Order: sequence, then C-alpha cells, then structure tokens
Amino acid sequence: MPEHIIVIGDGIAGLAMTLALAQHGHKLTLISDARGLPDRHMGGMQLAPNSWAALRQLSCEDEVKAHAKPLEVMRLIALATGHTLIHLPLDAAHHRQPYASVTRRGILVAMMEKVKTLANVSLITAKVTAVSSDMVNKKACLTLDDGKTIGGDWVFGADGITGICRRYIQGGQDIKPVRSVRQAYRIAVPLSDVPEVVASASTSVWLGREGHIVHYPLCDDHLNLVVTTSSVTGGEKQAKQLLDQHPWLGGCGILLDDVLVTPLTEWPRCDSWLRGRVVVTGDSAHQMPPHLAQGAGQALADAASLSQLISSGKNGAPLQDILPVWAGQRMRQIRSVLDAASAAGRVFSPPPALAMMRDAAVGFGGMAVLPRILDRIWSDQSLSR
Ligand SMILES: Cc1cc2nc3c(=O)[nH]c(=O)nc-3n(C[C@H](O)[C@H](O)[C@H](O)COP(=O)(O)OP(=O)(O)OC[C@H]3O[C@@H](n4cnc5c(N)ncnc54)[C@H](O)[C@@H]3O)c2cc1C
Repeated sequence: MPEHIIVIGDGIAGLAMTLALAQHGHKLTLISDARGLPDRHMGGMQLAPNSWAALRQLSCEDEVKAHAKPLEVMRLIALATGHTLIHLPLDAAHHRQPYASVTRRGILVAMMEKVKTLANVSLITAKVTAVSSDMVNKKACLTLDDGKTIGGDWVFGADGITGICRRYIQGGQDIKPVRSVRQAYRIAVPLSDVPEVVASASTSVWLGREGHIVHYPLCDDHLNLVVTTSSVTGGEKQAKQLLDQHPWLGGCGILLDDVLVTPLTEWPRCDSWLRGRVVVTGDSAHQMPPHLAQGAGQALADAASLSQLISSGKNGAPLQDILPVWAGQRMRQIRSVLDAASAAGRVFSPPPALAMMRDAAVGFGGMAVLPRILDRIWSDQSLSR
C-alpha cells in the first residue's frame, strides 16, 4: 500500500532516500531549503565499491559514473621520508572495483536529475522549522518557514547532524558536539597548476607530524586536496607547513585563501533512528569522521539497504513493520564503520607528541590492518549483491 513520505534535505542522503522509496511506488515529497549549489568549485569525494553497489540498487550508477574518475591505487606515504607505507591496488582481482572519485556537484546534479524524472515525487522549496508525530492517527507533521503545515505518513530527516530531525529524535534536545579535534582544509586545484606526478589516477594519503594530506584527481581536471591538521588552533599555519613538506605540492604556491574549512567535530552517537513517525538518515543519523571516505557512502547504503529490505518483504509489508528492522540493522553496521573511521583519524593525525610513535609503529608493520578494515567495509554488509 503506497504511503506518503516527506524527505527533508536534498543532500546525498535525502536524494538517495527519495530514489529508494520512490522505487516502491510510495508518494514522495522532497523538501529542499534552496541553499542550492554554490558557484564555487565544490571539490570531490571518493566512492568505494560499497557506494557504487548502493547506487546500482538505486538505479543511479550510470548517471553518477558520468561524473567519476576511476582511481587505480591507494597509497599511504610518510610525509617526512617519502616512504610508501601501504600500496593498495584498487583492482578487480582484489574485489576493489569500482573505486572512483566524483565531483560533489556532479553526484548531486545526477541524483537530482534522476529524482526529477519520477512522477511520484514532488519537490518543495522551503525551510522546515518543526517536525512532530501524531501517534493516534499515525501521521507525521511538519511546519515550513512560511507557516504552512504538511502532513504525511512518515518524515525522513536527511537534514544533517545539526538539523531539526536529529533534535526531534533526541527528545528535542540540542545536539552538543563532544569536541572538535581536527580541522580539514578542502580545495580543488586545477591539474594544470600541479606536477603531472600528482595527477595520476591514485588516491594518496601523506601522513605528517602535524596532520595529513589527501589528494586525488577529479574527472574535471582538478585535484581534490584535503589538508587535515591535528589540532584546531593554529590550523592554517599548520596546514601551510604540511603542504610545504609535500615533495611535489610544496613548491606550487597553493593558496589556502579560497578553501572550505571544516572543523572535524565529534558528535554524540545516535542511539535511535526512529521516533514515532520521524526517521533519520545520512549525516543526521551517523555523521562520521571523513578519514575512511565513507560518510556519503553510508548515506547511500542507508537508502539502498532499505530498498532491498522492502523488496524482500512478502505481501508488501507496511513501513511500520520494516523500518524498525532496517534501523536496527543499519545502526549495528554503522557502529563498526564509525569506530574504524575514528581510529583512522587518530592514526592519520594524532596529537603531534604521538606522531613519532605512530611512525615507529607503522615502520614495524602496524598499518597492515588498514587494508583488511577497508576490504571489510567496501565488501559491504548491508547489501546482498
Ligand atoms: C573533509 C571531508 C571529506 C569527505 N570525503 C568523503 C568521501 O571521500 N567519501 C564519502 O563518502 N564521504 C565523504 N565525506 C562525507 C560526506 O560529505 C557527507 O557524509 C555527506 O555529504 C552527507 O550528506 P547528507 O545528505 O547526510 O547531509 P548534507 O549534505 O549536509 O545535506 C543536508 C541537506 O539538508 C538541507 N537542510 C538542512 N536543514 C533543513 C531544513 N530545516 N529544511 C530544509 N532543508 C534542510 C541542507 O540544505 C542540505 O541540502 C567527507 C566529509 C568531509 C567533511
């Protein structure tokens, strides 16, 4: 029986959930607060095999692939010595395909274009100011910034960690950050401004004493560069120092003026994804440190796994029966990804005093565990293929 579902947020999580639920004939209303896509280059992200499997389930793989650049190898390198610590072929023989970078603008545009082709989805531009559940009538209700109210059978909150849905799920309490430990400086540099060696189809992670640098090429001839500092104070100076130590990027005069600075904040984990008729997904449910490049990938997996669970249900089981099962499964799966991403952050960018110990441990083979963790996450627990 088709239900009316309202999705708040047109980021990757909201678009993915809209595609997933529309596949099953539900009536969808997607609400976007019209922040739209900025004029500046939005940089890129990496999508691992589990993300592509999710996009396949959402029938959006080919559309996103048009904005992708396949990456052939992942390297971890000691910034101080230039020593390669890990060389991970991203090839079919190791079941690590597809692995590709995508432009952020490209994936959002591709998914939105797909959503717009669906007759059972309508789009509303508004900011949502409140959500609630009516348990007697089994309805969800939300208020828009123009004062109008809309009702539906369910509200899916894909409005980010500080959004109103996460607050609602947690009983109306504001979500307070646990702490900000690191800072990320993101910039897209034209490939013509950097040496050819950094433009190769690889993703490189350079481990320094005051943080780490990640870079990989994008399909639109830019290098996506993320410099993560191991503290939030003195971040920009540290970021410049890290870049100066890079053997090829140091001399390029890359300016940190036009960068997107993101404090990497630790948030309390969400111990329930469902309250009444309101459900959370994506960063709203499981904002995670970016060190294993899994935030968006897990948002896609939320949607794809729900779609798969609905498909496997007999006699069109109502969402009321399916959602608690889905939320329970996803919360268990996400826990280990969150743990691994947090641990990677501590290893990639430890406090400076611990960085020497990290390098020594790495020298004795202490990083061998990383490929095993990545292979486990990439082989995906949530989707049967
Ligand atoms: C430095 C860095 C690097 C990263 N690299 C990767 C990577 O390589 N691979 C990867 O998979 N992930 C990566 N991530 C994570 C990824 O970017 C996020 O997990 C993902 O974009 C989150 O998507 P989302 O849709 O949940 O949230 P968002 O993108 O934050 O979308 C939330 C949406 O909700 C809307 N909204 C909010 N409030 C309201 C409201 N009241 N009313 C209406 N609309 C509202 C907003 O306008 C927005 O459109 C990285 C993150 C960082 C910080």
